[in-house]
Amino acid sequence: MNYIDINAPAIKSISLVAHDNMKVELINWCQKYQDALKPHTLYATGTTGLHIEKQTNLAINKLISGPLGGDQQIGALITEQKIDIMIFFWDPLEAQPHDPDVKALLRLAAVWNIPVACNRATADLLITSPLFSSSYEKSIPDYQAYIASRS
Ligand code: PGA
Repeated sequence: MNYIDINAPAIKSISLVAHDNMKVELINWCQKYQDALKPHTLYATGTTGLHIEKQTNLAINKLISGPLGGDQQIGALITEQKIDIMIFFWDPLEAQPHDPDVKALLRLAAVWNIPVACNRATADLLITSPLFSSSYEKSIPDYQAYIASRS
């Protein structure tokens, strides 16, 4: 795979997802960091987004609920380079009916070199990084080279 360098923007698109047992933790995290989150464009799966909107002053672009396809919607946004950071508090102690979608989402985030926080400690480090609110260079797959190599 060839890679190209792009500038991740200062104002980022951030996806927020939490499995049911992890929702309180993500909401608490959003409350703590709402000032830092506010300038950015926020996406969330349906139920996560509803809870965050109710319990913070953040505006959320709500997708479909995760088990009904919301994780796949976020994956599609990642492939379109419309997500810059993913905060995904998945539940390590309970199997989910949509486990294949969870795996697919994490895979696409790895493919597209998206910073991902799967727990609060990592989310704390990400949001306090100077790069969270500034532009920085990162590499992503070179799709033109990829498709040319297959034609
Ligand atoms: P939800 O989906 O926010 O609609 O609960 C989250 C998930 O389980 O992926």
